[in-house]
Amino acid sequence: MTSTLLLAEFLAAVSAADDEESMLRTGLERAAEAVDAEVGAIVVRGRASMTLGYGDAPVPAAELLAVCGGATTAPVPGSGPSPAVALDLEHPAHSHIVVARAGEHEFTSEERGLLRAMARVLSLSIAGNRAQEAERRLNLELRERHQQLQRLVRVTSSISHGAPLKEVLDMIVEGAAELLGQEVVGLRLLRPDDPTRVDMVAHRGISDDLIDLVLHAPANAGAGGRAIDLNRVVAIDDYSTDVNTIAAFREHKLQRAMAAPVNDQGTVVGSLTVASYQPGTYTALEKDLLNMFAEHASLALSDARRVAATTHQALHDDLTGLPNRTLFLDRLEHALVRAGQNSTTVAVLFCDVDRFKLVNDRLGHGVGDELLIAVGTRVAGCLRAADTAARFGGDEFAVLLEESSQAEAESVAGRILSALRPGAVVQGRELPIGASIGVAMSTNTMKADDLLRFADVAMYRAKALGRGRYEMFEPSMWSDMEERADLETELRAAIAQTSDGDLSLVFQPILDLSTLDLVGVEALVRWRHPRHGDIAPDVFVPIAEETALIVELGRSMLHQASRQAREWYDRFGLRIMMSVNISAQQVDDVHLIDDVIAAINGAGIEPNQLVLEINESVVMHDTGTAAADRLLALKAVGVRLAIDGFGTGYSSLGYLKRLPVDTLKIDKSLVQDVERSSRDLALVRTVLSLGETLGLDMIAEGIDSVEQLKALRRIGCQQGQGLHLCAPMTAGELERILPGSFGQPVEMPAPR
Ligand code: C2E
Ligand code: MG
Repeated sequence: MTSTLLLAEFLAAVSAADDEESMLRTGLERAAEAVDAEVGAIVVRGRASMTLGYGDAPVPAAELLAVCGGATTAPVPGSGPSPAVALDLEHPAHSHIVVARAGEHEFTSEERGLLRAMARVLSLSIAGNRAQEAERRLNLELRERHQQLQRLVRVTSSISHGAPLKEVLDMIVEGAAELLGQEVVGLRLLRPDDPTRVDMVAHRGISDDLIDLVLHAPANAGAGGRAIDLNRVVAIDDYSTDVNTIAAFREHKLQRAMAAPVNDQGTVVGSLTVASYQPGTYTALEKDLLNMFAEHASLALSDARRVAATTHQALHDDLTGLPNRTLFLDRLEHALVRAGQNSTTVAVLFCDVDRFKLVNDRLGHGVGDELLIAVGTRVAGCLRAADTAARFGGDEFAVLLEESSQAEAESVAGRILSALRPGAVVQGRELPIGASIGVAMSTNTMKADDLLRFADVAMYRAKALGRGRYEMFEPSMWSDMEERADLETELRAAIAQTSDGDLSLVFQPILDLSTLDLVGVEALVRWRHPRHGDIAPDVFVPIAEETALIVELGRSMLHQASRQAREWYDRFGLRIMMSVNISAQQVDDVHLIDDVIAAINGAGIEPNQLVLEINESVVMHDTGTAAADRLLALKAVGVRLAIDGFGTGYSSLGYLKRLPVDTLKIDKSLVQDVERSSRDLALVRTVLSLGETLGLDMIAEGIDSVEQLKALRRIGCQQGQGLHLCAPMTAGELERILPGSFGQPVEMPAPR
């Protein structure tokens, strides 16, 4: 056989071998065979690692090694030293292939050439095999790594896509089990209400009989407990002997466990534990891997809690913690659907705190906020668990009553009013709380928006009817409400008219109660509407106050009233005291003093002829000095100041000493029952003696019967005003009586 053929066969045989060892063996056998050698060896790093042909005979290791170093003979069993040859193999490194042949025939150069070529082929084949092997391993590793990465990517992306927390935690537990090759995995979280205990929130590989025993545990138990304590990865390599392991797991022959802390924005909140029934030691890489899963769990938790917090924030009012409008509407919509299915009705109460703006403006937002919190708490306290109280912002609250009859809704409205009535102590100050409530009942087809709007409309009616009360919605109120928007536009236009417009004044005499002489008049604004006829101030003054039109309206009335006083002086020589009502916003307006001076000078009247009536609630709520300073400045101008509606607030009377007041007008609500109720009469008497002590003029308002007049006279009330004495009248009507005494029987014009 030719050398080339031999070499080709050699190559085929070697490369058919499966692994490096069989390659070397095949190579050695074929090489020896090709040159008729009886023995042979592969010598690697000075050791004969593979031999051929020695059978039971000892291997002459030293001689074989010597051949590698250049010797030309080696013993062959049964024939003594024989020609030998060694060929260098590049692979494995530092290795030779050695063959020896019995007899005297040296190896020919052709044989040596063939052996050299075979050695090279073998060496190359081994190198190729190694490369292939490495590649296969690399491929395997890469594929495995790829799978790990994919799993991680799935976990991470499910976190970032806001998958439900439970799903993400389950995925983390699965991933840790598979990547770490551990049979048992548990994710435990500290209880928010009791951080000494943990709950297992996700797990894998815990049998049914075991799970009940380990679902809840003391926070410091087991590997997880230790990871929480130390806030780092911990490994227990021998579970059976370690202290503080979990008994149930120990009894189930768990061998080892490793845990990493889980945190929420830097605070430890739990642990992720992996464990195995197979003995072993956790490597640094495995610890890193577990930590990474625990970090993923931390991220997922932080995200979920942030989302939950944001959602809560988005649906609740910051100040009171009550649901906000969005959540309320959502609940209302669902309630309406249920009501439709069950043929029940839903009630909505719309609740607005009376005179809240005044408190907020005058006592500051801090007090305003506390008042709102108190209102929120009390409103919510009047409800059943299934009902919803919400704050819509500002001073508006809404209540949803599911499965409620009208009678029940009315009783809740009544309960809320009584719950608010005692007032609240805010920052050491006693504040009255009143509210106006509108109630609307659902009908079959009603939408949430409509129901809310109807309750709102009814609330406006409650306000218009004097506040501190509730009103049931009636369809007629709706059109009234739409008119309101028109009224505002028309009122703006009426105020803008220069002179003799649709807004004019009527005058109600204020009389000395014993002589019935005219003491003065109160100027009351009237609006003669081109389409609706006369509109009462109770309707449009609140609109003007809400839209700040009141400042302009007030200024115009001040001028009209002053001009009228001057005219009466010119025509009758009488300096009639002229009272003008001033709203809160006017007191707050920096131009008020200039306006008053302009009115007085413009008309040419005496300053002390002008009385400015300011409602009790305006001065009562004032703590700052702005309003008080302005009133003092007005006093300096020379005008007189009266407190209007006195006795309706719950205020301390301290302000009377602080403010430069001349007159108290006792509110009609105190006067209306004086003839019937001895309690009310006593109250008015007390107010009168208080006024006397402070040197104030006292005027009883709203005297509309002779009995009231008599009662007031009996307790020494000096001055009064009311329909029984004289209704408000136009300047012309009043002039017909002037200058005569009001004590004479005069023809009274009809009340207007
Ligand atoms: P007020 O200042 O308390 O005015 C007295 C109100 O009581 C007047 O109602 C008057 O007509 C009414 N009245 C008089 N006698 C009796 C009586 O015997 N019984 C009853 N029940 N009521 C009586 P009016 O004119 O409708 O004014 C209502 C309120 O509108 C006033 O209450 C005042 O707060 C406000 N107002 C009227 N004119 C002006 C104004 O020019 N500027 C401002 N800012 N407010 C005004
Ligand atoms: Mg008045």
